Amino acid sequence: MKLTFGMVIAAMTLPTAANAAALSDAIGADMPQLMTLYRDLHANPELSMAEVRTPAKLAPEMRKLGFDVTEKVGKTGVVAVMKNGSGPVLLLRADMDALPVKEQTGLPFASKAIGKLPDGSETPVMHACGHDTHITSWLGTARRLSAMKDQWSGTLVMVLQPGEERVMGAKAMLEDGLFTRFPKPDYLLAFHDAATLPAGVIGVTNGYVLANVDTVNISVKGVGGHGAYPQNTKDPIVLASRIVTALQTLVSRENDPQQPAVVTVGSFHSGTKSNIISDEAKLALTVRSYTPDTRKLLLDGINRIVRGEAIAAGMPDDRMPIVEIEQPSADATFNTPEFSEHLTKLFTSHFGQDRVTQPVAVMAAEDFSRYWLADKTKQSVIFWVGGVPQDKWDAVKGDTLKLPALHSPFWAPDAEKVISTATEALTVAALDVLKKG
Ligand SMILES: [Zn+2]
Ligand SMILES: [Zn+2]
Repeated sequence: MKLTFGMVIAAMTLPTAANAAALSDAIGADMPQLMTLYRDLHANPELSMAEVRTPAKLAPEMRKLGFDVTEKVGKTGVVAVMKNGSGPVLLLRADMDALPVKEQTGLPFASKAIGKLPDGSETPVMHACGHDTHITSWLGTARRLSAMKDQWSGTLVMVLQPGEERVMGAKAMLEDGLFTRFPKPDYLLAFHDAATLPAGVIGVTNGYVLANVDTVNISVKGVGGHGAYPQNTKDPIVLASRIVTALQTLVSRENDPQQPAVVTVGSFHSGTKSNIISDEAKLALTVRSYTPDTRKLLLDGINRIVRGEAIAAGMPDDRMPIVEIEQPSADATFNTPEFSEHLTKLFTSHFGQDRVTQPVAVMAAEDFSRYWLADKTKQSVIFWVGGVPQDKWDAVKGDTLKLPALHSPFWAPDAEKVISTATEALTVAALDVLKKG
Protein backbone atom coordinates (compact mmCIF):
# COMPACT_ATOMS: atom_id res chain seq x y z
CA MET A 1 0.00 0.00 0.00
CA LYS A 2 1.31 3.42 -0.85
CA LEU A 3 -0.06 6.32 1.13
CA THR A 4 0.07 9.77 -0.34
CA PHE A 5 1.02 12.58 1.96
CA GLY A 6 -2.46 14.09 1.71
CA MET A 7 -3.96 10.92 3.11
CA VAL A 8 -1.59 10.99 6.04
CA ILE A 9 -2.50 14.56 6.82
CA ALA A 10 -6.19 13.73 6.61
CA ALA A 11 -5.67 10.83 8.98
CA MET A 12 -3.75 12.93 11.51
CA THR A 13 -5.38 13.13 14.87
CA LEU A 14 -3.85 15.48 17.33
CA PRO A 15 -2.30 13.73 20.29
CA THR A 16 -4.31 13.78 23.47
CA ALA A 17 -2.78 15.21 26.62
CA ALA A 18 -2.86 11.74 28.19
CA ASN A 19 -0.96 10.17 25.24
CA ALA A 20 1.59 12.98 25.28
CA ALA A 21 2.16 12.56 29.01
CA ALA A 22 2.49 8.76 28.67
CA LEU A 23 5.13 9.10 25.94
CA SER A 24 6.99 11.75 27.88
CA ASP A 25 6.98 9.50 30.99
CA ALA A 26 8.26 6.51 29.02
CA ILE A 27 11.13 8.57 27.60
CA GLY A 28 11.81 9.93 31.08
CA ALA A 29 12.25 6.35 32.29
CA ASP A 30 14.75 5.69 29.45
CA MET A 31 16.75 8.85 30.13
CA PRO A 32 19.22 7.57 32.79
CA GLN A 33 20.42 4.84 30.38
CA LEU A 34 20.44 7.23 27.44
CA MET A 35 22.50 9.79 29.38
CA THR A 36 25.03 7.07 30.27
CA LEU A 37 25.36 6.35 26.55
CA TYR A 38 25.60 10.09 25.78
CA ARG A 39 28.42 10.68 28.23
CA ASP A 40 30.28 7.65 26.87
CA LEU A 41 29.91 8.87 23.26
CA HIS A 42 30.92 12.39 24.28
CA ALA A 43 34.11 11.11 25.95
CA ASN A 44 34.96 8.94 22.92
CA PRO A 45 34.38 11.03 19.78
CA GLU A 46 35.58 9.86 16.37
CA LEU A 47 36.54 11.86 13.27
CA SER A 48 34.65 11.77 9.96
CA MET A 49 34.80 8.42 8.11
CA ALA A 50 36.87 7.00 10.97
CA GLU A 51 33.87 6.02 13.11
CA VAL A 52 34.54 2.52 14.41
CA ARG A 53 33.72 2.38 18.09
CA THR A 54 30.44 4.31 17.72
CA PRO A 55 28.75 2.05 15.14
CA ALA A 56 30.12 -1.04 16.92
CA LYS A 57 28.40 0.16 20.08
CA LEU A 58 25.07 1.08 18.48
CA ALA A 59 24.54 -1.81 16.04
CA PRO A 60 24.11 -4.50 18.75
CA GLU A 61 21.69 -2.21 20.65
CA MET A 62 19.52 -1.98 17.53
CA ARG A 63 19.61 -5.77 17.04
CA LYS A 64 18.42 -6.21 20.62
CA LEU A 65 15.44 -4.00 19.80
CA GLY A 66 14.45 -6.28 16.90
CA PHE A 67 15.91 -4.29 13.99
CA ASP A 68 17.48 -5.99 10.99
CA VAL A 69 20.93 -4.37 11.13
CA THR A 70 23.55 -3.98 8.38
CA GLU A 71 26.94 -2.48 9.26
CA LYS A 72 29.68 -0.89 7.15
CA VAL A 73 27.30 0.74 4.68
CA GLY A 74 29.22 3.61 3.06
CA LYS A 75 32.38 2.55 4.95
CA THR A 76 31.20 2.90 8.56
CA GLY A 77 27.44 3.59 8.40
CA VAL A 78 24.72 1.48 10.01
CA VAL A 79 21.29 0.76 8.52
CA ALA A 80 18.68 -0.70 10.88
CA VAL A 81 15.38 -1.74 9.30
CA MET A 82 12.13 -2.65 11.02
CA LYS A 83 9.30 -3.83 8.77
CA ASN A 84 6.02 -3.63 10.62
CA GLY A 85 3.16 -4.17 8.19
CA SER A 86 1.94 -2.10 5.28
CA GLY A 87 2.46 1.62 5.05
CA PRO A 88 5.06 4.20 4.08
CA VAL A 89 8.80 3.91 4.57
CA LEU A 90 10.32 6.46 6.98
CA LEU A 91 14.06 7.11 7.09
CA LEU A 92 15.40 8.54 10.39
CA ARG A 93 18.99 9.68 10.14
CA ALA A 94 21.57 10.56 12.80
CA ASP A 95 25.11 11.65 11.91
CA MET A 96 27.81 10.32 14.20
CA ASP A 97 31.12 12.06 13.47
CA ALA A 98 33.02 14.57 15.61
CA LEU A 99 35.46 17.42 14.85
CA PRO A 100 39.20 18.13 15.16
CA VAL A 101 38.62 20.47 18.12
CA LYS A 102 40.30 20.47 21.56
CA GLU A 103 37.46 20.40 24.07
CA GLN A 104 37.47 23.20 26.65
CA THR A 105 34.05 22.77 28.26
CA GLY A 106 35.47 21.54 31.57
CA LEU A 107 32.74 18.87 31.71
CA PRO A 108 33.62 15.85 33.89
CA PHE A 109 33.18 13.63 30.82
CA ALA A 110 35.02 15.99 28.43
CA SER A 111 36.86 14.35 25.56
CA LYS A 112 40.60 13.70 25.75
CA ALA A 113 40.51 11.73 22.51
CA ILE A 114 43.15 12.07 19.82
CA GLY A 115 42.38 11.25 16.20
CA LYS A 116 44.20 11.13 12.88
CA LEU A 117 43.41 13.61 10.14
CA PRO A 118 43.38 12.46 6.48
CA ASP A 119 46.95 13.81 6.10
CA GLY A 120 48.12 11.53 8.92
CA SER A 121 48.65 14.27 11.52
CA GLU A 122 47.20 13.92 15.01
CA THR A 123 44.52 16.17 16.49
CA PRO A 124 42.35 16.39 19.57
CA VAL A 125 38.76 15.35 18.81
CA MET A 126 35.48 16.64 20.25
CA HIS A 127 31.77 16.26 19.61
CA ALA A 128 31.66 20.04 19.12
CA CYS A 129 28.66 19.84 16.78
CA GLY A 130 26.59 17.77 19.23
CA HIS A 131 26.26 14.71 17.01
CA ASP A 132 26.49 12.67 20.23
CA THR A 133 23.04 14.04 21.11
CA HIS A 134 21.83 12.92 17.66
CA ILE A 135 23.09 9.35 18.08
CA THR A 136 21.61 9.05 21.56
CA SER A 137 18.21 10.40 20.50
CA TRP A 138 18.27 8.06 17.50
CA LEU A 139 18.62 5.09 19.85
CA GLY A 140 16.04 6.57 22.22
CA THR A 141 13.57 6.83 19.34
CA ALA A 142 14.30 3.28 18.19
CA ARG A 143 13.64 2.08 21.73
CA ARG A 144 10.25 3.81 21.89
CA LEU A 145 9.13 2.76 18.42
CA SER A 146 10.15 -0.83 19.07
CA ALA A 147 8.18 -0.82 22.34
CA MET A 148 5.16 0.77 20.62
CA LYS A 149 5.16 -1.52 17.57
CA ASP A 150 1.41 -2.18 17.93
CA GLN A 151 0.74 1.55 17.46
CA TRP A 152 2.22 2.02 13.98
CA SER A 153 2.35 0.35 10.60
CA GLY A 154 4.95 0.68 7.87
CA THR A 155 8.73 0.42 7.61
CA LEU A 156 11.39 2.21 9.62
CA VAL A 157 14.82 2.66 8.09
CA MET A 158 17.14 4.02 10.79
CA VAL A 159 20.40 5.35 9.42
CA LEU A 160 23.53 6.08 11.47
CA GLN A 161 25.58 8.14 9.04
CA PRO A 162 29.34 8.75 9.04
CA GLY A 163 31.28 11.72 7.70
CA GLU A 164 28.75 14.57 7.83
CA GLU A 165 31.34 17.19 8.76
CA ARG A 166 33.26 16.47 5.58
CA VAL A 167 29.98 16.15 3.59
CA MET A 168 31.04 12.66 2.52
CA GLY A 169 28.90 10.24 4.52
CA ALA A 170 25.48 10.59 2.88
CA LYS A 171 27.10 10.29 -0.55
CA ALA A 172 29.05 7.22 0.55
CA MET A 173 25.91 5.54 1.91
CA LEU A 174 23.86 6.33 -1.22
CA GLU A 175 26.66 5.03 -3.45
CA ASP A 176 26.76 1.87 -1.34
CA GLY A 177 23.09 1.18 -2.11
CA LEU A 178 21.18 2.88 0.70
CA PHE A 179 18.14 3.32 -1.58
CA THR A 180 18.51 0.03 -3.48
CA ARG A 181 19.65 -2.55 -0.93
CA PHE A 182 17.19 -1.31 1.67
CA PRO A 183 13.52 -0.16 1.49
CA LYS A 184 13.42 3.17 -0.33
CA PRO A 185 12.04 5.91 1.93
CA ASP A 186 8.92 8.00 1.25
CA TYR A 187 9.82 10.33 4.14
CA LEU A 188 13.21 11.59 5.30
CA LEU A 189 13.64 12.98 8.80
CA ALA A 190 16.54 14.18 10.95
CA PHE A 191 17.29 16.81 13.57
CA HIS A 192 20.29 18.91 14.59
CA ASP A 193 21.01 20.40 18.00
CA ALA A 194 21.03 24.22 17.92
CA ALA A 195 23.23 26.76 19.70
CA THR A 196 20.75 29.50 18.78
CA LEU A 197 17.65 28.20 20.59
CA PRO A 198 16.98 27.60 24.28
CA ALA A 199 17.20 23.96 25.36
CA GLY A 200 14.09 21.98 24.49
CA VAL A 201 12.72 24.42 21.91
CA ILE A 202 12.08 22.94 18.45
CA GLY A 203 12.68 24.91 15.25
CA VAL A 204 11.15 23.90 11.93
CA THR A 205 12.16 25.94 8.88
CA ASN A 206 10.02 25.71 5.77
CA GLY A 207 11.86 25.52 2.42
CA TYR A 208 15.62 26.07 2.21
CA VAL A 209 17.13 25.52 5.64
CA LEU A 210 20.89 25.19 4.94
CA ALA A 211 23.06 26.38 2.06
CA ASN A 212 25.04 25.25 -0.97
CA VAL A 213 28.67 25.49 0.06
CA ASP A 214 31.53 25.54 -2.45
CA THR A 215 35.16 25.92 -1.49
CA VAL A 216 36.96 27.66 -4.35
CA ASN A 217 40.78 27.62 -4.51
CA ILE A 218 42.44 30.13 -6.84
CA SER A 219 46.06 29.99 -7.84
CA VAL A 220 46.98 33.44 -9.17
CA LYS A 221 50.11 33.04 -11.25
CA GLY A 222 52.64 35.83 -11.67
CA VAL A 223 56.09 36.37 -13.08
CA GLY A 224 58.45 36.64 -10.15
CA GLY A 225 61.60 38.67 -9.77
CA HIS A 226 63.51 41.27 -7.75
CA GLY A 227 61.46 43.79 -5.80
CA ALA A 228 63.64 46.60 -7.16
CA TYR A 229 62.77 45.78 -10.80
CA PRO A 230 58.97 45.54 -10.96
CA GLN A 231 59.07 46.35 -14.67
CA ASN A 232 60.49 42.86 -15.28
CA THR A 233 57.76 41.05 -13.34
CA LYS A 234 54.00 40.48 -13.13
CA ASP A 235 53.19 40.87 -9.45
CA PRO A 236 50.62 38.22 -8.35
CA ILE A 237 49.99 40.04 -5.02
CA VAL A 238 48.74 43.14 -6.80
CA LEU A 239 46.65 41.04 -9.20
CA ALA A 240 45.20 38.85 -6.43
CA SER A 241 44.36 42.02 -4.44
CA ARG A 242 42.42 43.36 -7.43
CA ILE A 243 40.64 40.03 -7.75
CA VAL A 244 39.64 40.10 -4.05
CA THR A 245 38.25 43.61 -4.46
CA ALA A 246 36.41 42.82 -7.70
CA LEU A 247 34.86 39.70 -6.14
CA GLN A 248 33.07 41.95 -3.63
CA THR A 249 30.81 43.20 -6.43
CA LEU A 250 29.40 39.76 -7.16
CA VAL A 251 27.05 39.83 -4.17
CA SER A 252 26.62 43.60 -3.98
CA ARG A 253 26.14 44.41 -7.72
CA GLU A 254 25.31 41.25 -9.66
CA ASN A 255 23.19 39.14 -7.33
CA ASP A 256 19.45 39.72 -6.77
CA PRO A 257 19.24 41.18 -3.24
CA GLN A 258 16.30 38.82 -2.55
CA GLN A 259 18.59 35.81 -3.04
CA PRO A 260 20.98 35.14 -0.14
CA ALA A 261 24.61 34.77 -1.18
CA VAL A 262 28.06 34.83 0.44
CA VAL A 263 31.48 35.18 -1.18
CA THR A 264 34.20 35.21 1.49
CA VAL A 265 37.91 35.20 0.72
CA GLY A 266 39.08 33.44 3.85
CA SER A 267 42.69 32.89 2.92
CA PHE A 268 45.31 34.88 0.94
CA HIS A 269 48.90 33.66 0.85
CA SER A 270 51.86 34.85 -1.19
CA GLY A 271 55.49 35.75 -0.96
CA THR A 272 58.47 35.08 1.28
CA LYS A 273 60.45 38.31 1.63
CA SER A 274 60.08 42.07 1.23
CA ASN A 275 62.33 42.43 -1.80
CA ILE A 276 61.13 39.44 -3.80
CA ILE A 277 58.16 39.61 -6.13
CA SER A 278 56.49 36.24 -5.82
CA ASP A 279 55.40 34.10 -8.76
CA GLU A 280 52.14 32.92 -7.19
CA ALA A 281 49.39 34.04 -4.80
CA LYS A 282 46.86 31.59 -3.41
CA LEU A 283 43.29 32.51 -2.48
CA ALA A 284 40.72 30.27 -0.80
CA LEU A 285 37.05 31.22 -0.85
CA THR A 286 33.85 29.95 0.66
CA VAL A 287 30.90 30.54 -1.66
CA ARG A 288 27.38 30.06 -0.29
CA SER A 289 23.88 30.22 -1.72
CA TYR A 290 20.52 28.44 -1.64
CA THR A 291 19.28 28.12 -5.21
CA PRO A 292 21.11 26.44 -8.13
CA ASP A 293 20.75 29.68 -10.14
CA THR A 294 22.48 31.83 -7.51
CA ARG A 295 25.18 29.21 -7.11
CA LYS A 296 25.85 29.28 -10.88
CA LEU A 297 25.86 33.10 -10.97
CA LEU A 298 28.52 33.22 -8.24
CA LEU A 299 30.77 30.45 -9.60
CA ASP A 300 30.57 31.71 -13.20
CA GLY A 301 31.22 35.25 -11.93
CA ILE A 302 34.33 34.16 -10.02
CA ASN A 303 35.77 32.51 -13.14
CA ARG A 304 35.01 35.58 -15.27
CA ILE A 305 36.43 38.12 -12.80
CA VAL A 306 39.59 36.11 -12.15
CA ARG A 307 40.34 35.73 -15.86
CA GLY A 308 39.32 39.31 -16.67
CA GLU A 309 41.58 40.81 -14.02
CA ALA A 310 44.49 38.64 -15.18
CA ILE A 311 44.00 39.89 -18.74
CA ALA A 312 43.79 43.48 -17.48
CA ALA A 313 47.10 42.95 -15.65
CA GLY A 314 48.71 41.83 -18.91
CA MET A 315 49.31 38.31 -17.70
CA PRO A 316 50.50 36.05 -20.53
CA ASP A 317 48.10 33.31 -21.69
CA ASP A 318 50.20 30.55 -20.13
CA ARG A 319 50.08 32.29 -16.73
CA MET A 320 46.30 32.61 -16.40
CA PRO A 321 44.97 31.93 -12.87
CA ILE A 322 43.69 28.45 -12.11
CA VAL A 323 40.27 28.17 -10.39
CA GLU A 324 39.35 24.90 -8.69
CA ILE A 325 36.22 23.92 -6.81
CA GLU A 326 37.29 21.64 -4.01
CA GLN A 327 35.32 18.41 -3.76
CA PRO A 328 33.07 17.42 -2.18
CA SER A 329 30.82 20.48 -2.28
CA ALA A 330 27.66 20.62 -0.17
CA ASP A 331 24.25 21.08 -1.75
CA ALA A 332 21.56 23.18 -0.08
CA THR A 333 19.20 21.37 2.27
CA PHE A 334 15.52 21.80 1.46
CA ASN A 335 12.61 21.12 3.81
CA THR A 336 9.60 20.24 1.69
CA PRO A 337 6.79 22.69 2.50
CA GLU A 338 4.00 20.13 3.07
CA PHE A 339 5.99 18.05 5.54
CA SER A 340 7.44 21.15 7.29
CA GLU A 341 4.02 22.68 7.81
CA HIS A 342 2.61 19.37 8.94
CA LEU A 343 5.36 18.77 11.50
CA THR A 344 5.11 22.35 12.76
CA LYS A 345 1.43 21.75 13.52
CA LEU A 346 2.07 18.32 14.99
CA PHE A 347 4.90 19.53 17.27
CA THR A 348 2.92 22.61 18.31
CA SER A 349 -0.05 20.51 19.35
CA HIS A 350 2.22 18.04 21.18
CA PHE A 351 4.73 20.35 22.87
CA GLY A 352 2.73 23.59 23.02
CA GLN A 353 3.27 26.85 21.17
CA ASP A 354 6.07 28.04 23.49
CA ARG A 355 8.32 25.18 22.43
CA VAL A 356 8.00 25.42 18.64
CA THR A 357 9.44 28.16 16.45
CA GLN A 358 10.21 28.77 12.75
CA PRO A 359 13.85 29.93 12.52
CA VAL A 360 15.20 31.55 9.37
CA ALA A 361 17.53 29.52 7.15
CA VAL A 362 21.28 29.65 7.82
CA MET A 363 24.33 29.63 5.53
CA ALA A 364 25.88 26.52 7.09
CA ALA A 365 25.66 23.17 5.28
CA GLU A 366 24.51 19.59 5.87
CA ASP A 367 24.81 16.53 3.70
CA PHE A 368 21.33 15.40 4.77
CA SER A 369 20.39 17.34 1.61
CA ARG A 370 21.67 14.49 -0.56
CA TYR A 371 18.93 12.03 0.41
CA TRP A 372 16.18 14.30 -0.87
CA LEU A 373 18.20 15.41 -3.91
CA ALA A 374 18.48 11.72 -4.84
CA ASP A 375 14.67 11.70 -5.27
CA LYS A 376 12.85 15.00 -5.02
CA THR A 377 9.38 13.39 -5.08
CA LYS A 378 9.88 12.46 -1.40
CA GLN A 379 9.05 14.47 1.70
CA SER A 380 12.00 15.66 3.78
CA VAL A 381 12.63 17.71 6.93
CA ILE A 382 15.58 18.40 9.18
CA PHE A 383 14.55 20.31 12.28
CA TRP A 384 16.46 22.02 15.09
CA VAL A 385 16.35 21.18 18.78
CA GLY A 386 17.65 23.96 20.97
CA GLY A 387 20.53 23.11 23.30
CA VAL A 388 21.42 26.38 25.08
CA PRO A 389 21.05 25.78 28.85
CA GLN A 390 18.21 27.96 30.15
CA ASP A 391 20.36 29.82 32.73
CA LYS A 392 22.89 30.74 30.01
CA TRP A 393 20.07 31.84 27.68
CA ASP A 394 18.56 34.02 30.41
CA ALA A 395 21.94 35.53 31.34
CA VAL A 396 22.46 36.93 27.82
CA LYS A 397 18.73 37.56 27.23
CA GLY A 398 18.76 35.32 24.16
CA ASP A 399 21.68 37.12 22.48
CA THR A 400 23.39 33.95 21.30
CA LEU A 401 26.29 35.88 19.74
CA LYS A 402 27.55 36.07 23.32
CA LEU A 403 27.45 32.26 23.69
CA PRO A 404 29.51 29.40 22.18
CA ALA A 405 28.34 28.37 18.71
CA LEU A 406 28.33 24.89 17.18
CA HIS A 407 31.93 23.76 16.53
CA SER A 408 33.16 25.87 19.46
CA PRO A 409 35.46 24.08 21.96
CA PHE A 410 33.10 25.47 24.63
CA TRP A 411 29.81 24.14 23.16
CA ALA A 412 28.14 22.23 26.02
CA PRO A 413 24.45 21.78 25.28
CA ASP A 414 21.89 20.86 27.91
CA ALA A 415 22.15 17.32 26.53
CA GLU A 416 19.39 15.92 28.70
CA LYS A 417 16.90 18.45 27.30
CA VAL A 418 18.10 17.98 23.71
CA ILE A 419 17.93 14.20 23.89
CA SER A 420 14.56 13.95 25.65
CA THR A 421 12.99 16.55 23.35
CA ALA A 422 14.46 15.11 20.14
CA THR A 423 13.52 11.56 21.09
CA GLU A 424 9.97 12.67 21.79
CA ALA A 425 9.72 14.74 18.60
CA LEU A 426 11.13 11.98 16.38
CA THR A 427 8.83 9.41 18.00
CA VAL A 428 5.74 11.60 17.63
CA ALA A 429 6.62 12.32 13.99
CA ALA A 430 7.23 8.64 13.24
CA LEU A 431 3.95 7.55 14.90
CA ASP A 432 2.17 10.16 12.77
CA VAL A 433 3.81 9.31 9.43
CA LEU A 434 3.43 5.57 10.10
CA LYS A 435 -0.09 5.91 11.42
CA LYS A 436 -2.11 2.71 11.52
CA GLY A 437 -5.08 2.15 9.21
ZN1 LIG B 1 29.08 20.50 12.32
ZN1 LIG C 1 26.47 18.92 12.80
